[in-house]
Amino acid sequence: MPRSGATGFSTVINCMDGRIQLPVLDFMRNRFGHPYVDNITIAGPVRILANGTPAAILDAVRERLHVSVEVHGSRTIAVVAHHDCAGNPVSREEQIAQLRPACDWVRSLYPHCTILPLWVNAHWQVEVVDWE
Ligand SMILES: [Zn+2]
Repeated sequence: MPRSGATGFSTVINCMDGRIQLPVLDFMRNRFGHPYVDNITIAGPVRILANGTPAAILDAVRERLHVSVEVHGSRTIAVVAHHDCAGNPVSREEQIAQLRPACDWVRSLYPHCTILPLWVNAHWQVEVVDWE
């Protein structure tokens, strides 16, 4: 079983929503060419990461990131927000605003990794968020 970044793991912190799993996993595989995508799912992750609460969920995400980065050797971590999110029922603009502190939280844990903010739109297409 391959274990290093060179052999192909990336990571997503995604919503649990079934509509976005395959689009996000396919996007990551196509963009980075890594065959394996470690999939950390919770409901409305950007809201929780941006708010820094509840602590138990943050701890669970931290544990999973540890396995993905330190054991599997992932060096690319995407954070995902999406259209019509039941766990985070606010506008696209608010979710995009939450993505920035959510990504900052991940970056504070793994400054050597590439952190990628993603938005899944109403057509279930994956877009890279560009704040500039
Ligand atoms: Zn959602």
